[in-house]
Amino acid sequence: MYNYNKKYFKLKLKIIIKGRLRLMTTRNMEDYLEAIWNLQDEKGYVKAKDIAERLEVSRPSVSGMIKKLSENEYIVYEKYGGIVFTIKGKKLAREIKKRHTLLVEFLKIIGVDEQNAQTDACKLEHDVSPETITCLLKFVEFISLLPESSKWKENFQEYLKKRGLLERSSNKSKNCKEKILKEIE
Ligand code: MN
Repeated sequence: MYNYNKKYFKLKLKIIIKGRLRLMTTRNMEDYLEAIWNLQDEKGYVKAKDIAERLEVSRPSVSGMIKKLSENEYIVYEKYGGIVFTIKGKKLAREIKKRHTLLVEFLKIIGVDEQNAQTDACKLEHDVSPETITCLLKFVEFISLLPESSKWKENFQEYLKKRGLLERSSNKSKNCKEKILKEIE
């Protein structure tokens, strides 16, 4: 679900050099807050070790971020206890989680499979403007309110099939991209 590879860190560094340190810090903080939210939800408690595993980052990175999140009053950390949200932290984490769920739902509506929807939602959720989020929310609502008889989903799937954009292979997104590129040529 989380892809903290070298390329990602290089990109981060590039952006930091460009002078967007504050923005990237916020983004990183959002990833942690979301992970803490999910762990709390799944296990009922949150330990630094679990965050490191979940985000595939080192223990010192987690310690650094715990310190930062505590200083910013998003969490309270008890050394032998666990990590708990403050009211402010809980509010922000809930907001991030909501954005994530909405984006996943939207991506699935347009035909993205579950796994890609989850991964891509985590990338999109930091950068989408509140205005776009509102539009997406309205769109997802609109779709959910359509009567079964409208058959829009079936029609859309049919359209994707006809255009050759729907592949039932393991490397769906790659195929999809290649086909779109071919069509553009
Ligand atoms: Mn996410």
